[in-house]
Amino acid sequence: MAKAVEQCIAANLAGVRQQVADAAARSGRDADDITLVAVTKYVGLLETEALIAAGCRDLGESRPQGLWAKAAAFADLDVRWHMIGHLQRNKVRRSLPLTWLTHSGDSLRLIDEIDRVTLGDVEPTRILLEVNISGDAAKHGFSPTEVEDALPVVAELPHVAVQGLMAMAGLDGDRDSARRDFAALRDLRDRLRRNCPAGIGLDELSMGMSRDFQVAIEEGATLVRVGSALFEGVPR
Ligand SMILES: *Cc1c(COP(=O)(O)O)cnc(C)c1O
Repeated sequence: MAKAVEQCIAANLAGVRQQVADAAARSGRDADDITLVAVTKYVGLLETEALIAAGCRDLGESRPQGLWAKAAAFADLDVRWHMIGHLQRNKVRRSLPLTWLTHSGDSLRLIDEIDRVTLGDVEPTRILLEVNISGDAAKHGFSPTEVEDALPVVAELPHVAVQGLMAMAGLDGDRDSARRDFAALRDLRDRLRRNCPAGIGLDELSMGMSRDFQVAIEEGATLVRVGSALFEGVPR
């Protein structure tokens, strides 16, 4: 059983990596510039361990409790945890030391708390600013105008290091509308760069999930967050 899980996940991972490479090649990009974040929120420790064994180094969770449990279980291994879902302020203190990159910097209140909780003698906390690029009412994140206003404010926080932007495509969209959303995030990033406060980095674009990561890569994603495609057909 465990063997079958391992083999299936290794094959899925190889397939996704190939699709990442193909999408990079189509758009004249280097596949090494794209980080695959394997989202483990649907699965348990066995499947997560299989991913790590297959060579996955970047893992993502959307709920802090999931991140805490898995980060503790694999604390001895060379993995980097990505927080990709909404983070409540009362979960920041426990999550930060376990997290490599927080993709879901979705409000100034949260980012203030991250700044406050990060100890002065450690590296600043790496975050992305989440943008509600599709304008879905149900989504977290800054609107494009809000993110522009937030940059100078966040630039003043000494313990937070912005690395780029994160977004999801609209919930009910097809590939074409996903492409428009991803292109809009890239265009926003390019526009913000022209007037970017010192200390803010905008190199990273976290966009694309199982159904649209290839389109996201074609539109400039540097981080893709892929979950279900890695677990298709895995015996349960
Ligand atoms: C669950 C999740 C993903 C991965 O979704 P899949 O469709 O399973 O690939 C990516 N990003 C976020 C923010 C998520 O919550």
